[in-house]
Amino acid sequence: MTIAISTFKKLGVIRTGHFRLHSGWHTAEFWDLERAFSDYEFSKKLAHAAAELCAPWEFDTLAGIGRGGGMFAAALAAPYGFHLPFYLMTEVGGSLLIHRGRPMTGKRLLVVDDVVTTGASLTSAVRAVREAGGEIAGCLLVLDRSEGVALDCPLVAIIKKTILAWRPETCPLCKGGQPFTVK
Ligand SMILES: [Zn+2]
Repeated sequence: MTIAISTFKKLGVIRTGHFRLHSGWHTAEFWDLERAFSDYEFSKKLAHAAAELCAPWEFDTLAGIGRGGGMFAAALAAPYGFHLPFYLMTEVGGSLLIHRGRPMTGKRLLVVDDVVTTGASLTSAVRAVREAGGEIAGCLLVLDRSEGVALDCPLVAIIKKTILAWRPETCPLCKGGQPFTVK
């Protein structure tokens, strides 16, 4: 099952302007995926698309990165029928911490995030899971907007669309004096 980009547009997920992304990079196109996760029917569609993409992989636990990844993991855990526990990983002082006291040792995890831009969060999540004794089955995203992320594990995305993003010092919108759009 594929989901057309137009359906994200209809939900008001895709916004244009001048945005600061979580990665610190700037962009003219921001995908507000919380709007997608807060729509129950659409969340179910995302879960079904994800189930197909991840069908070849074996895993017993999910790990959601940050708020977006946590919302996606929750959306997957319920209607998908995974009945899988999930860990929430949040960023503290530049590194990802794994919440929940249960040990990760021996678990095989699907790392879940909403969007990847630079791959920094994913790379650090994969490292944190391994350091905690978990094994990575793969990484799942709603949107891969990167120009390619170098990871030593498989990565799949429901939508793959390269969208320009810049470091703040090279952002043409900043150079043009365009104010930030309110998220
Ligand atoms: Zn800018």
